Amino acid sequence: MPTSALIESDRKHLIHPVASLRAHEARGVTILESGRGAWLRDIDGNELLDAFSGLWCVNTGYGHESIVRVATEQMSRLPYATGYFHFGCEPAIRLAEQLIDKAPKSLRHVYFTLGGSDAVDAAIRYITNYYNATGRPQKKQFIALERGYHGSSSVGAGLTALPVFHQNFDLPLPHQHYIPSPYPYRSESGGDPQAVIAESVAALRAKVAELGAERVAAFFCEPIQGSGGVIVPPKGWLKAMRDACRELGILFVADEVITGFGRTGPLFACEGEGVEPDLMTVAKGLTAGYAPMGAVLMSDEVYQGIADGAGTRAAVGHGQTYSAHPVSAAIGLEVMRLYHEGGLLANAAAQAPRFEAGLRELLAHPLVGDARSRGLLGALELVADKATKRRFDPALNLSEKIASTAYRNGLIFRAFNDNILGFAPALCYTGEEFGVLFERLKKTLDTVLDAP
Ligand code: PMP
Repeated sequence: MPTSALIESDRKHLIHPVASLRAHEARGVTILESGRGAWLRDIDGNELLDAFSGLWCVNTGYGHESIVRVATEQMSRLPYATGYFHFGCEPAIRLAEQLIDKAPKSLRHVYFTLGGSDAVDAAIRYITNYYNATGRPQKKQFIALERGYHGSSSVGAGLTALPVFHQNFDLPLPHQHYIPSPYPYRSESGGDPQAVIAESVAALRAKVAELGAERVAAFFCEPIQGSGGVIVPPKGWLKAMRDACRELGILFVADEVITGFGRTGPLFACEGEGVEPDLMTVAKGLTAGYAPMGAVLMSDEVYQGIADGAGTRAAVGHGQTYSAHPVSAAIGLEVMRLYHEGGLLANAAAQAPRFEAGLRELLAHPLVGDARSRGLLGALELVADKATKRRFDPALNLSEKIASTAYRNGLIFRAFNDNILGFAPALCYTGEEFGVLFERLKKTLDTVLDAP
């Protein structure tokens, strides 16, 4: 089918939930044909450097033959086993073992989902069961961060504090509450790390006091907020929040859907901060985009909620047809091998300083007010006035324009609200590819500066 016919058919029949209208009106969709490493090719043969790993998920890069091989083998041996009832399969068991082996040691049990949203949903179910099982059914209030994103199910979208995900749906739900984001660049304290941490801890304490500690179930956070604009809190923030939760008698849930699997350096951001959460949600890099899968990991204590007195499991009243899917699990195992034995974590660690330096150099650019990153997760924040940090008029749609210009220059990254540009290059990036990324990015920013 010719490209124009495909685009027209896509326009008529397919929904692109967030970018739909803007993408169609600005440039139409890009129909992708193939990918290798960090590079994508569209059906017209244009080569695009992907600086966002798909949707922060293809951490391994595209086109790994070994992943294709294990997926094909698993598909022909056993494509399906329902974990809903009492069936299991070796890949899911081995993947659970590996996750438990490599995740913070507080986490001992795994429930596999299809992605991040249902991992968040499942976490809420397990937390609720836990409090019921331990005689505290009134603990039902959940606290999350402003600018946080926790998925697109009604419960996850409610915990998400981005207005676009609430509109028309009576969200947040009555038991969902937020405290301010730890946003150093725009904090009242001018970004002093200790002050940012103290502000967050004080806000959490105040919110718990307002709601009543006996009614609060848990605090959910992303170790680095992704969809809210790659907000990087100071080192030590995660630990301080974890400790505050323990002191306040509420569970601490780390949503590592983006930050997991080497994105910020170590396999999990919690590991890098010496934090042991009560629950952790993961997805994306777990299968690196080669198949859908997520998981919620939980401590022995939370697991009590589904264990009876004799330690056997009771029914949770929650499950999915494709949970612990054998093909996804086999892919997950191979992806874990690539992170470790395949050298991807080591490469990411070696390349991270180059990524950080490239972003930091762009602070000299007239449009760039802030450059922030940890590992291979980073952002530039554009401002109309560097001294006052004044944002551009949203009507200018500047970050969308920049992303579209970059795309024409053969570079893909993500435009967020508030003129924030987000980057999440694959863990396989070479030094040369970082060179191309920053050359194309600079060219793009210069073009937009000349004709905003
Ligand atoms: N939590 C976080 C932190 C996420 O970034 C996302 C997805 N961007 C989700 C949950 C939801 O994951 P999914 O889209 O796989 O349902």
